[in-house]
Amino acid sequence: LSLAGKALSEGTWALSTLDIRDFATDKHRSVDDTPAGGGAGMVMRADIAAAAIDAAREDAAPGTPTIYLSPRGTPLTQSRAHALAQGPGAILLCGRFEGLDQRVLEARDVEEISIGDYVLSGGELAAQVLIDAAVRLLPGVAGNEVSLAEESFASGLLEYPHYTKPREWEGHAIPEVLLSGDHEKIAKWRRDQAESLTRARRPDLLDKSQKR
Ligand code: SAM
Repeated sequence: LSLAGKALSEGTWALSTLDIRDFATDKHRSVDDTPAGGGAGMVMRADIAAAAIDAAREDAAPGTPTIYLSPRGTPLTQSRAHALAQGPGAILLCGRFEGLDQRVLEARDVEEISIGDYVLSGGELAAQVLIDAAVRLLPGVAGNEVSLAEESFASGLLEYPHYTKPREWEGHAIPEVLLSGDHEKIAKWRRDQAESLTRARRPDLLDKSQKR
């Protein structure tokens, strides 16, 4: 849908999906089994996941990373999305149940990425989040390169607040400086707003940008 869907239909990027059940070896097409050591839930089998990864790798460009969407992974960031947008693509593994057998993650050198500190029931939505974050950064997709350069995280800060017409709404006016036509003053106001918003909501981002 939206930007990513339009870019897909225009051939700016491509998506190919594999059903992991096609790599099952029994008549029930099962892909999971009970956890070694006991406990609740089911675990996706290493041999079946490996066969699916190997099949995906046959069609992938050299250097394509294999990423398992996982709550245990490195948090997804805007800079990782940029790196993915500039790279050859990605093979995305969507987990289900309790997740994947650890051995396949190690044997196939799989990177783990999380989209946040909460648990989803499957990796598909997480994969869509990662795809959307990367695809909108591909040249020509978002349409307005300036807004990409100014948006949240681009400079290590959250973005400044936005306003549009009407000039006054329910007694609230647009900040005077934005109507002044003085571009230098507007740029300074936006920078100050971005900094104070980041300090109040995400001081961890300020710490990171000072360390850069
Ligand atoms: N037992 C796992 C744990 O505690 O870390 C959770 C498994 S979850 C029910 C099933 C699948 O959803 C995972 O294998 C993963 O692919 C996906 N998933 C869940 N939360 C996610 C998150 N925050 N980021 C990325 N993927 C996630």
